[in-house]
Amino acid sequence: MPAVAKLFEDQPDEPKAPCGGNGGGAPDGKDPDVGAGKAVVPAPGDRVVGLAVNANLWRSFDYLWPAWLPVPAVGQRVRVAFGRGNRKTLAFVVDLARRPGTHELKAVSEVLDPQPQFDDVLWRLGQWISGYYLTPPGMSLAAMIPSAVGRHAARCEAVAYLQSHHADWPQALGARQKRVLDELYEARAQGVEPVSVEALMRASGCSRDSIQRLARRKLIRVENRPVELPELTDAAEADPFELNADQQAAMSALSAKIDAGGFSVTLLHGVTGSGKTEVYIRAIRQVIAASRQAILMVPEIALATQTLQRLLRRLPRVAVLHSGLSDAQRAFYYQQIRDGAAAVVVGPRSAVFAPTRKLGLIIVDEEHESSYKQDTAPPYHGRDTAVKRAQLADVPIVLGSATPSLESMHNVAAGRYDLLSLPIRVKGLPMPKLQIVHLRKELTPGKVELIGATLTHRLAEVLGRGEQAILLMNRRGYASYVFCPSCKWMYECEHCSRPMIFHQATHMCMCHYCQATSALPEPCPACSGKLLLFGLGIQRTEAELVRKFPQAKLARMDSDTMTTPGQFRKVFDAFGAGELDILLGTQMVGKGLDFPRVSLVGIISADTSLIIPDFRASERTFQLIVQVAGRAGRAEMPGQVVVQTLHGDEPAIQFATTHDYKGFAAWELPLRKDAGLPPYARLVRFIVRHENMDRASAAANALAVALRPHLPPEVVFWGPDPAAIKRIRNKFRFQILLISPRPGVIQAALAGRMERIVHDIPAEVLADADPVSLA
Ligand code: ADP
Ligand code: ZN
Ligand code: ZN
Repeated sequence: MPAVAKLFEDQPDEPKAPCGGNGGGAPDGKDPDVGAGKAVVPAPGDRVVGLAVNANLWRSFDYLWPAWLPVPAVGQRVRVAFGRGNRKTLAFVVDLARRPGTHELKAVSEVLDPQPQFDDVLWRLGQWISGYYLTPPGMSLAAMIPSAVGRHAARCEAVAYLQSHHADWPQALGARQKRVLDELYEARAQGVEPVSVEALMRASGCSRDSIQRLARRKLIRVENRPVELPELTDAAEADPFELNADQQAAMSALSAKIDAGGFSVTLLHGVTGSGKTEVYIRAIRQVIAASRQAILMVPEIALATQTLQRLLRRLPRVAVLHSGLSDAQRAFYYQQIRDGAAAVVVGPRSAVFAPTRKLGLIIVDEEHESSYKQDTAPPYHGRDTAVKRAQLADVPIVLGSATPSLESMHNVAAGRYDLLSLPIRVKGLPMPKLQIVHLRKELTPGKVELIGATLTHRLAEVLGRGEQAILLMNRRGYASYVFCPSCKWMYECEHCSRPMIFHQATHMCMCHYCQATSALPEPCPACSGKLLLFGLGIQRTEAELVRKFPQAKLARMDSDTMTTPGQFRKVFDAFGAGELDILLGTQMVGKGLDFPRVSLVGIISADTSLIIPDFRASERTFQLIVQVAGRAGRAEMPGQVVVQTLHGDEPAIQFATTHDYKGFAAWELPLRKDAGLPPYARLVRFIVRHENMDRASAAANALAVALRPHLPPEVVFWGPDPAAIKRIRNKFRFQILLISPRPGVIQAALAGRMERIVHDIPAEVLADADPVSLA
C-alpha cells in the first residue's frame, strides 16, 4: 500500500512543550526497543488494544498493551511508534477487546492520560465529527484535545524581541524565519513587543530551533520569563441598566428554555447594536445561578475587543481560551473547566470541545462567521458542532447574529430553530447611513489611489469635528499583488496557482499558501513594462492617509502582525481613549468593536470577496458591509459609512446599504434554490491531491468510481474537476462535489465504508462536509 505509507509521512509534527517536559514514557529497566517500535510477541498478561492513530487512515491498529502499564480505558491518549518509519504518533484507545495472538505487535510505550479526557458526550461528539465530516477517527479525536493538556505544566515561557534593523536581515534566510522577523518588525511598529515564541511559531510555521538560530545570529533576542497563570475571580459587576422591551422578550423566552433544560436551538437575530451581548450575559448568569456551566463561542478576533473586557467584568469565573495562551495557561484552564472552577468558557471554534462537566447552555455569537469552519482536517464547523454537542448533552443553544447565515434562516423556516429578534438598536439609536461610491469614477487618471474623493472629503469633515474614523481593508496586511498595468500580467506562485504577495518589510514576494519566496520581478517578464504593486495593501493606504492628512493620528492593524489579543488590546485601548483619530485595519476592525466617538466608517473596497469563486460570495459581501457599518454611530453621534466599490451594481451591496437582511435573503435564497445549492442542498466535497498531475487526476477518477455504487440516486455528482486552486504546495488538486437535497444522506451512505472506498486510491483523499470555501 504505497499510497498509505506516503500519507503517513505527510503528517505534521506534534508541537513540543515549551520548557521541555512531557508526561509518561517507558519506566527505567524496560526494553528500549519497545519505545523504538520493534514488534514483539505478546507475553503472558499483556493485552492487545485497538488504536485510532492521528493519521489519514480509517482502520484501527492492534498494539500490545504491556502488563506493566495501568489497565487501559477507551478514549485514553497514547503515543506509539507508527508505520514503517516508526514515527511517534498520537493515538487513541478505541477497542479493549482485541485478543492477543502469537504474531508480533508493536507495543504502546507512552500513556498520555491516566484517565480519558473525554466524557460520554464528547466521545460521541468525536464519533459524530468523524462520521459527518468523513475524517478518520484518530484525526477527529486529536482535534478535540489541545496537545498541552495533561502535560506537566511549564513554569517559564520564552518571549522574543527584534534586535536588528531590517536593512541588515540576511537575504539567505528561510521564508519562515523571515516571517518571524516580519512579525517582530510589525509588533515593534505597533509598540507591542515582546511576542511569545509560541505565538511566533504559530504565526510563522517556524520551529523553536530555527527561532533560536535567529537569536544566535543576534537578529532577535529571546528571553525566558515566568508564565503568568490566569486567575478566575468570583467578582462580577452588577447589571448597569434594565433590558429594553425587545431584549426582555428575548430573555424571557431564553430563560424558560434554560429553566426547562433539554435541547433546543434559538436563532437570535439582532441588528448591530441591538444589545445581543447583554442578553447573553444575563442568560449565562441564570445558568451559573443554577450551578451549571456555559460555553460562549466567539470569532477568534472578538477575543481582542472590549466586548471581551465587558464579559470579564460582568461574569464570574470566566476561562478565556484564546490563541495567545501558552501551553501552560491552556492546560491550567482545561483543568479549571473540568473541575468546575470555571463557570464560563469563552473561546473560538475549539471552545466547543471544552470539557465542562455540567453544561447548561451554549451560545455561538456571530454564528454566520466563516472562521468557525476549520480549514484543516477534521474540517468541522464550530457552530454546527456546537448544535450537535447541545443535542448530545441535551441543553439549549443560542446562535446570535446581525446577519444570520442563510443556513440558519432556512432552519428557522423549516421549524428546526426558533427565532428571536431584536429589530432596533438600543436607546433608539438610528442605523448608520451608507453611501456607495463608484471608485472608478473618482480616481484621477494615471494615479493609483485607494481613497477616493468622497471618502477623502468625509474624513476631512470628521477629523475637523474631532471625531474618529475606522477604515477597513478587505485584505491581509502590508502586502500587494504584483501586476502589470499594460499587459495585465499577474505574478503568481510557481508551485500554487495563487498570487505572490509583496511584503514591504522584507522586500520579498511570498506565496501565502506555500510560503515560497522570491525577489520582486522587474520589469514585467511578459512585456517589459513597469510593474505595479497593486496594494489593497495597508501600508499603501497608510501612506496615502499620511499624505492627505499629515496631522491625523493613525494606527493600523492587521492579522499578520496582531498575533496575540494583548497586541490588539493596546491599539484598541489607545483608540478608545481618543489618542488616535483613524484606525485602519483588515476585517478585524469590523468585528465586535464599540467605540462611541466613531462617526465614519470607510470600506476601501467592498469587492474583493466578490472575486472569490464561491457561491457564498454575495452573502459574504452583504455580511461584511452590514457588520462593518454596524460599528458606526453606536452612541449619540450619527454614523456614516462610505463603501467604495468597483462593482456598485451588485445586489448584495445594494441591500447592505439599507441594512435590508430580509430583502437580501429574499433575493438570494431563490437563486440558491434554483441552482440546487445550500441551504436547499448539502454538499460534501472530496479533494484528491498528488504531486503528479496525471496521478492526481487518475486517482480522482478512481475515487468517483469507488464512491458511486454507495450513493443513492438522489445524490448529484460534480466532477472530478481540477479544484479552483489547482495546485497548493506543489500538489495538484482535483475535486469531486456531491450534492444531496437532504442532510446527512451522503454521510449515512459513506461513513462506515470510507476505509474500503479510499483503500486503493493512489493519492491522498480529504473529505469536507458543508464546505465554506470551494477554492
Ligand atoms: P450587540 O451585541 O447586539 O451589538 P451590545 O450588547 O454590544 O449589542 O450593546 C450595544 C451597546 O448598548 C453596549 O454598549 C451595551 O452596553 C449597550 N446596551 C445594551 N443593552 C442596553 C440597554 N437595555 N440599555 C442601555 N444600554 C444598553
Ligand atoms: Zn505557493
Ligand atoms: Zn506586462
